[in-house]
Amino acid sequence: MKSVDAHLAEILGTVRPLDPVELGLEEALGATLAEDVTSPVALPPFDNSAMDGYAVRAGDVVGATGDEPVVLPVTIDVAAGDTAPRAVGEGFVTRIMTGAPVPEGADAVVPVEWTDGGTVKVTIRRAPSPGNAIRRSGEDVGAGDVVLPSGTVIGPAQLGILAGVGRRAVLAHPRPRVVVLSTGAELVEPGTPLGHGQIWESNSYTLVAAVKQAGGEAFRRRAVGDDPYEFSATLNGLLGEADAVITSGGISMGAYEPVKEALSPLGTVRFEKVAMQPGMPQGFGVLGERQIPIFTLPGNPVSSYVSFLLYVKPALARMRGLPAGPPVTVTATTASALRSPAGRRSFLRGVLSAGTGEGRAVVTPVHGQGSHQLAALASANALIVVPEDVTDLPEGAVVEVIPI
Ligand code: AMP
Ligand code: MG
Repeated sequence: MKSVDAHLAEILGTVRPLDPVELGLEEALGATLAEDVTSPVALPPFDNSAMDGYAVRAGDVVGATGDEPVVLPVTIDVAAGDTAPRAVGEGFVTRIMTGAPVPEGADAVVPVEWTDGGTVKVTIRRAPSPGNAIRRSGEDVGAGDVVLPSGTVIGPAQLGILAGVGRRAVLAHPRPRVVVLSTGAELVEPGTPLGHGQIWESNSYTLVAAVKQAGGEAFRRRAVGDDPYEFSATLNGLLGEADAVITSGGISMGAYEPVKEALSPLGTVRFEKVAMQPGMPQGFGVLGERQIPIFTLPGNPVSSYVSFLLYVKPALARMRGLPAGPPVTVTATTASALRSPAGRRSFLRGVLSAGTGEGRAVVTPVHGQGSHQLAALASANALIVVPEDVTDLPEGAVVEVIPI
């Protein structure tokens, strides 16, 4: 049997970052920058007021106190967005609003709270030090500075600085578009009645959500039955709109395995047994001229999700131009004994809770470790990893855990 590590290595050896494209800001959330973004100007671009108050020459208000205030005439108002050049003469002040350019000659802003708020003349009860409440040009960013390096994932704050340096579009690896297609003649849509021998289709919902959480765009397709021709026809119709495909079901040893039957003859998708539990049957390969990666995951709900976490999630990271490798693990002590088949790496579902004080985190395996036990999966927040050469672990043993 192929090892988990070898299977991931093959996948990461095949999958490439998506070509960078020019993305408008509206579509750039979740994309990965493929250029260093610099600012064409300093930010702030001009000295401006940090508060509502009065622009003054600090020298004119030296010694102002509540008992001995300084009273000065107010010339004009300078509001945010005021583009005319303004100045403050000796012995005068202007009113000034937050974000407004500091007038020529002024070197401090007196917050309105330190004054009587006068509009013709103002009584100032406290002396500002020079530079008070002034945001200096270039304090945030110098002209020509790199504000976001290549490789940065664009989130809300990154979109803010892109707009803040005047960009409309950026060169970035887009979010991979992933089509999710379930197979199984027994599957019916949630919300429709269940006949004898049928179950509600659930994998596609899990996988679509997992793709989105992994930074992809996901498209769910209504499940197809177990006819390989129907599967092929549906798949071919989807390739144009996809950067990757995930299927579930139809790859085991039985009869009526449409995914395996349809794709095996192509020779570009390999179906193998991987030494893991759950999720032993796996398939991976590429499709069509664009060599689109296809992950054919097993149909059991726990198996398909575990397979996603182990193989598809790292592949999506690679496609996004991000560092890609096996899932991050933490160590924990197990709250009860664990069993695992010899020669296979187990990923048991567990609940990870923070350690107390100095202690390590504790992980408790959930009841129901069957690969069909979706409710048990939904009650877990972690996968407990039991290595291939370990079959029994006592309570209190230290284990690697993948938080999910
Ligand atoms: P398969 O891999 O097609 O042999 O399916 C293995 C098991 O997973 C069977 O019990 C299926 O009914 C179940 N299964 C397959 N696909 C889905 C799905 N999309 N949603 C829920 N259960 C599924
Ligand atoms: Mg099936």
